[in-house]
Amino acid sequence: MPKFIKISGSNEKFEVNNVFCIGKNYMDHIKEFGQNYAPENPVVFLKPNSAVISNSENIRIPVCEGKPVSDSLHYETELVVAIGKDGQNISESDAKDYVFGYAIGLDMTLRDLQLSAKKAGLPWATAKGFYSSAPVSEIISANGTINPMDLSLKLEINHIQKQLGNTNLMIFNIYKLISYISTIFHIQKGDLIFTGTPEGVGEVKSGDYLCATLGNNLLNLKVKVDG
Ligand code: MG
Repeated sequence: MPKFIKISGSNEKFEVNNVFCIGKNYMDHIKEFGQNYAPENPVVFLKPNSAVISNSENIRIPVCEGKPVSDSLHYETELVVAIGKDGQNISESDAKDYVFGYAIGLDMTLRDLQLSAKKAGLPWATAKGFYSSAPVSEIISANGTINPMDLSLKLEINHIQKQLGNTNLMIFNIYKLISYISTIFHIQKGDLIFTGTPEGVGEVKSGDYLCATLGNNLLNLKVKVDG
């Protein structure tokens, strides 16, 4: 079933294609995991587009054979770039032309599954790509007034601030990311790129209410953890 995201101030919707995600794109977040060096190239992984949910839908931990598969659901607040046209081998200087707009998203992570997969040298798809792991706000069209290199990212949980970062601290800026992804995978209209989280990641529990804000109230994302 196709996934659609509302476009802010429009009746049109954005049909989601691939969901690319970037890991380790903010130094202070890398340090939270006990490392002290930036990756040489962007760290890229994918979520299925069925992982995308919208404002007021619920995040839920998958249940397998009657038991939740994880007891460590973490939030990561991220700028999401929405891609407006197909491209491959895009230069950084041309990357801007491929941006349709921006959103704020949560890269929800089953941290216990991710850490055990990493330790065992196994893929972490279940930890990052489960249903509802990619809540995304409405998309705001790119226009001259939005500078993606200087947008604040804020997350409140139950009205208490948990993350506050700024896209100006990215290791690889969004144009570098588009260029890199287009070289390896190619990009397509409808793709989303989750661009990595600043520091301050942590756990949420059943019943928690998450409110993420992009810039000076440009966009809000409000979701709840099921239960
Ligand atoms: Mg992330």
